[in-house]
Amino acid sequence: MIKFFDFKREYSGLKEEINIKIDEVLSKGNFINGNELQDFESKFSKYIGTKNGLGVNSGSDALFMAIKALDINRDEEVITVSHTFISTVDAITRNNAIPVFVDIDPDTYCIDVSKIESKITDNTRAIIVVHLYGHPADMDPILKIAKKHNLFVIEDCSQAHGAKYKGKTVGSLGDISCFSFYPVKNLGAYGDGGFIALNDDFLFEKLEMMHNYGQSMKNQYEFVGLNSRLDEIQAAILNVKLEYLDIWNNERKKLANSYNKLLDNSIYKIPCTKEYADHVFHLYVIRTSKRDEIRDYLLKKDIQTMVHYPIPIHKQNAYKNFASSDNIPITEEICSQIVSLPINPWLKSFEVEEICEILNNMENING
Ligand SMILES: *Cc1c(COP(=O)(O)O)cnc(C)c1O
Repeated sequence: MIKFFDFKREYSGLKEEINIKIDEVLSKGNFINGNELQDFESKFSKYIGTKNGLGVNSGSDALFMAIKALDINRDEEVITVSHTFISTVDAITRNNAIPVFVDIDPDTYCIDVSKIESKITDNTRAIIVVHLYGHPADMDPILKIAKKHNLFVIEDCSQAHGAKYKGKTVGSLGDISCFSFYPVKNLGAYGDGGFIALNDDFLFEKLEMMHNYGQSMKNQYEFVGLNSRLDEIQAAILNVKLEYLDIWNNERKKLANSYNKLLDNSIYKIPCTKEYADHVFHLYVIRTSKRDEIRDYLLKKDIQTMVHYPIPIHKQNAYKNFASSDNIPITEEICSQIVSLPINPWLKSFEVEEICEILNNMENING
């Protein structure tokens, strides 16, 4: 069985280190806002390259709070993509703002920069950029457009921990950056977790209060906030795992290279890496018109695949009354063609060879 993600393999290599850390936290009896969190906040923001960093409960919360902190209000518009995980867009609608969808680039699957400006109105306040699958979006032109139209840029880095754009780590380029530590991410906790990285001190102070009930000091609440924290146990686990992030990303890149080399690109559209990108391959996504057949066949051979994502957000029931699907043909076209093949640092190269062998011979098998 080749699993899409194999937590047993991951944990077996980390068991000792992690168990010691968890035991330390439990023995100290300090479960919220302790040293592990402080340590992690300073290490991870340093890794990203921002002055400030804040551990929160999830990537979804990070995105929600980013928009709230920027005072984006009812009926104001936020530009993003429909080809993403639901949280990117929920963060906008949960703030009563309006998501406006821009189509994606057919090679990188990230926002198509050339299509942003036509969607900007007097109500537009921000752009949420998603570095999808681990490939950075084309940030320079995005930042230029944002500057010209006085818009904030929020980076959704939930799939791109450690990815680089022109040598700069993603999450250090926009106004506020959001990360998820959901277990399968390139940097994952053993539970929920998220992070907000930013340079601005004023916004940071606001976010610090916001994620802690809006509290400025004990028993004083400046505005309505929420409880969204990264607990000590998860922070301790992340402190262990952060040391391995670059090594793991390199493993992902190596496996992606093998896929690229072995897969028959006359049958499959393989992922592209732009010259400006250091792609960290959170996912390895290929395109084929026979997507469903391929998934069924691989599953018969005990190989798990997934689809990220089969239904774009604007086609979801939750967004029926919200979002227009104006002019996003690539988003609509690719969702029936994409398939994510297994890729994670614990996958073996012989397993990649096996998968490619099967995929390259699919046509013969189907007769
Ligand atoms: C995982 C993910 C999120 C949400 O993160 P959670 O921690 O699960 O809330 C947001 N955006 C993208 C692009 C993601 O992949």
